[in-house]
Amino acid sequence: MSILIPLALVAVFGLAFGSFLNVCISRIPEGDSVVVPGSRCPRCGHAIRWRDNIPVLSYLLLGGRCRDCKQSISRIYPLVEILTSAMLALAYWRYRLSPEFIKAALVLMLLIVLTFTDLRTRRLPHKITIFGIAAGLILSLFVPVDARPLGWLLARWGFAASGPLLSLAGSLGGALMGGGLFYAVGEIFYFVGRRRKEYLEKKYPGEEFQAKEYLGFGDVMLMLMIGTFFGIPLTFETILLGSLGGTLVALPLSVADSRFKDYAWPYGTFLGAAGIFVSLGGDLLLERYLHWTGLG
Ligand SMILES: [Zn+2]
Repeated sequence: MSILIPLALVAVFGLAFGSFLNVCISRIPEGDSVVVPGSRCPRCGHAIRWRDNIPVLSYLLLGGRCRDCKQSISRIYPLVEILTSAMLALAYWRYRLSPEFIKAALVLMLLIVLTFTDLRTRRLPHKITIFGIAAGLILSLFVPVDARPLGWLLARWGFAASGPLLSLAGSLGGALMGGGLFYAVGEIFYFVGRRRKEYLEKKYPGEEFQAKEYLGFGDVMLMLMIGTFFGIPLTFETILLGSLGGTLVALPLSVADSRFKDYAWPYGTFLGAAGIFVSLGGDLLLERYLHWTGLG
């Protein structure tokens, strides 16, 4: 059978899932339920009619405005719906109907939610990351996680792990590497920030200075989650790509546009975007890189 029919189905379901992710993005950081009440206009509080709640289409038909108060609806809503649909379709195209697809679809949706909660509210809610960490660990028993270089180390120490156990070790290793690295860097930044604050307050007596927080605990939790899904090599790739992407976007904008001079860049958004890429094709990029450098 042609792949086009299931692919179109996945894309349509993707729009509906994207609609649900919008509810998660706007409600979970506020601590609200994602089930009740039904969708409401965030500006006038009017319940949204079912025919105005069709993904993307309703946004276009309404001209991007609420039917009741006529105020504009954030473009993030249709964007998240289209993004979810496109990413799930790409995952299906690569993995077909398989456990790999289920796992990729889940991590993609978790990362889309976290990318946008960090962008909109600078929050990476623990509710989402803790659920993700548990899901990543459990799924590692069914879909193999890249256990390099742990499998090799374990074998050297006389523990010849294989199958689901080796995969679980890879998942735990990825979480410890990703979360541990961010925790350590966060502690260093915290220490440097405190020192800077003390120094400035000694230099300018009577003035107060803020110790900026560059890496929050939300970022540590996000990396724990990414680690459980990806294992060590791909978690490392996500950190590299996220940091590179963040630098390439933030640096020129901070210099060129005065509005971004003191902008608090959401690191989680860049890590999330990198994770979305890695879950779709990060392994192919890694193998190509290892082959090119002669390492694998
Ligand atoms: Zn309204």
